[in-house]
Amino acid sequence: MRCHRCKGEPIGVCPFCGRLICEDCYRPHVYVLTVYVGEAQTPKAIAVSNALWCQTCRPHPAPIPMPELF
Ligand SMILES: [Zn+2]
Ligand SMILES: [Zn+2]
Repeated sequence: MRCHRCKGEPIGVCPFCGRLICEDCYRPHVYVLTVYVGEAQTPKAIAVSNALWCQTCRPHPAPIPMPELF
């Protein structure tokens, strides 16, 4: 298994699409792990700001509502 951009040695997996990515090809990107409703009904997100983004997929900047799943 190789980096999908340069075929180099991968250091991790893009959390958005699952592609392998190497140290030279990734870019940090905000990755929202979960969203919950905090005090005063304010939605809050638990996120990491430097996830290994592959630069190929197009992560949505915020979770999109999917009411059909419930
Ligand atoms: Zn690469
Ligand atoms: Zn990706």
